[in-house]
Amino acid sequence: MVQHKICPACGSTRIKRVRKTITRNFRGKRYKVPGVEFHECLKCGETVFSPEAVAKIEAYSPAFAASKVS
Ligand SMILES: [Zn+2]
Repeated sequence: MVQHKICPACGSTRIKRVRKTITRNFRGKRYKVPGVEFHECLKCGETVFSPEAVAKIEAYSPAFAASKVS
């Protein structure tokens, strides 16, 4: 996993790695993704997702679920 040390939005070094359940929106439909690891800036609130986190979020997305053949 890539370690981010500087916030891409404000340049602050007060960025920490967190693990949370996040709520996302897809075409007005809310869905939750549990235990996502990402970096959060303590100064401006910017969140930075790793490719692994993005893949996990996509796996929970209704868009992804709709495209799956089951
Ligand atoms: Zn920031």
